[in-house]
Amino acid sequence: MAEYTLPDLPYDYAALEPHISARIMELHHDKHHATYVKGANTALEQIAEARDSGNLANINKLEKDLAFNLGGHVNHSVFWTNLSPEGGEPEGGIKDAIDEQFGGLEKFQAQFTAVALGVQGSGWAVLGYDQTGGNLTTFQLFDQQGNIPFGVTPLLQLDVWEHAYYLDYQNVRADYIKAFWNIVNWKNVGERLDAARS
Ligand code: MN
Repeated sequence: MAEYTLPDLPYDYAALEPHISARIMELHHDKHHATYVKGANTALEQIAEARDSGNLANINKLEKDLAFNLGGHVNHSVFWTNLSPEGGEPEGGIKDAIDEQFGGLEKFQAQFTAVALGVQGSGWAVLGYDQTGGNLTTFQLFDQQGNIPFGVTPLLQLDVWEHAYYLDYQNVRADYIKAFWNIVNWKNVGERLDAARS
């Protein structure tokens, strides 16, 4: 069975400073993301053991563990590539889609910011492509895996778990979200949209 592996960051720990500190990036990638990868592999192993032994008493708990940890692995893998020291603005297909769906970048940013700001407890703000309707849409993602319907491909994700910003911004999540807009890798977001549409 395939094992999940921790991807390298596509830049140095300090590359996103001053918006996100090297210390946060190091802890977030090397400790938090690594723990989700390990948890997903452990859950897979335990599900295989349960199947082999025929003792399926814990199967639903194990599958919930898998969903949570695999969610954490997928979310962080998208998030790292959504960020770049260069920043910039959307161009091409992603720009057109944002203009059409949200009435422009400013309106999209206001909506996404409100989504991120309003996450209760731990979770994410997500811009996704809805395969069913062919629309761009925003969602809150609860914890690592809740509140997203099937058929939505993530394009842009912002981690608003406290571990993502507390060392730099303490309780002021709004400042972290504001800083995030300086380091969005719109090229990556656009490539994800092109892939989702093809
Ligand atoms: Mn995180």
